[in-house]
Amino acid sequence: MQQKMQYITILGSTGSIGVSTLDVIARHPDRYRVYALTAQNRVEELAAQCVQFQPSIAVVGNAESAQKLQLILRQQGLKTQVEHGAAALCAVASAAECDCVMAAIVGAAGLAPTLAAARAGKKVLLANKEALVMSGPLLMDAVASSGATLMPIDSEHNAIFQCIPAAYHDQHQRTPSQHGIEKILLTASGGPFLHRDINTLDKVTCAEAIAHPKWVMGRKISVDSATMMNKGLEVIEAHWLFGVPASQIEVVIHPQSVVHSMVSYVDGSVLAQLGNPDMRTPIAHAMAYPERIASGVASIDLVKIAQLTFEAPDLVRFPCLKLAYDALQAGGSAPAIMNAANEIAVQAFLDGRIGFRVIDQLIARVMAALPSGPVTDIESVFEQDQRARDVANSFI
Ligand code: NAD
Ligand code: MG
Repeated sequence: MQQKMQYITILGSTGSIGVSTLDVIARHPDRYRVYALTAQNRVEELAAQCVQFQPSIAVVGNAESAQKLQLILRQQGLKTQVEHGAAALCAVASAAECDCVMAAIVGAAGLAPTLAAARAGKKVLLANKEALVMSGPLLMDAVASSGATLMPIDSEHNAIFQCIPAAYHDQHQRTPSQHGIEKILLTASGGPFLHRDINTLDKVTCAEAIAHPKWVMGRKISVDSATMMNKGLEVIEAHWLFGVPASQIEVVIHPQSVVHSMVSYVDGSVLAQLGNPDMRTPIAHAMAYPERIASGVASIDLVKIAQLTFEAPDLVRFPCLKLAYDALQAGGSAPAIMNAANEIAVQAFLDGRIGFRVIDQLIARVMAALPSGPVTDIESVFEQDQRARDVANSFI
């Protein structure tokens, strides 16, 4: 069957997810073209991507980077239009020329363009979990009212998507029990400190924290995996994506990272999605759904893997996981406040300004200091996000 060409915008194309997305696109020139690429800085890498994929537009963080990029692209004889700033990100995410948007900016900076893509009715490939954590009801409402399609890229949520009946995804008002869904089993590798002596956690270095045993990822999400705040953010993400309450989302530690998550049904069946830990699998799945395309990832060799193990998470070792459940329970802007405090704490840790153990303490203090407010519009979300950042900074 002849495919209609899909034009894709990649928000955050120089990041770990952005690069994996371009790898999948390059394998299918008959199906996909790049409409726009965006990056905050790393201009040379973005320029090399532009040479290879020839987008119509490239967006960078500021005027200086734009000038630099413009110069390289003209030297290469490229016609790619260069823009900069937050408004340009929203413009390429919602442009009529683009069909599909990979939302792969890290952190709160991705919220406005992700929401713009959802409001414009695009196929939104969501990697930027922080956007959904901050504004769950707003983003889900935007998707429902514009007729956009939201596809999870996070490996766990993509796995859950694959283990849930297709009819469930088509409904706006979803009730898990109507489909026999008992609970979601969200797997977690446990990160680099799963078995480290708990008394030494206050002394771990940045290099140790970002050395994830199974996944190669950006620095922020790598630290989130070490604290397990990443899993906490994913519990909230699962709640919004699949309409399942916190009480029916269970985290299971699975150090091999082969089972990417599971769905448990009332008849005793548990469906799982397995694969190598390589983000090109969920990216290819989400891009081609409901079809399947090659992603460059080899299938797993179960005999070689030999053992799959599971254990319960230790909330004393990983207090961030509990904080996320608390935020989801509190509702309103509590998840946005928690996310903002986490972003500030992780950056302070990466900069060597605070120790590893201070990350969870700082988030807890900010959450205790700021009451949850309503999430009615994007402006109020950003207001509460900024307030939480200010309070977090005042505690450092
Ligand atoms: P990364 O740090 O490797 O890349 C981030 C990208 O965002 C870069 O292109 C960067 O230029 C851009 N960016 C950063 N700050 C920006 C700003 N203020 N404005 C505009 N652009 C900005 O991160 P990553 O690992 O690719 O993760 C991206 C998102 O995907 C995160 O939300 C992460 O939680 C999520 N995610 C990542 C993985 C993974 O395997 N890496 C898996 C699941 C989910
Ligand atoms: Mg994940």
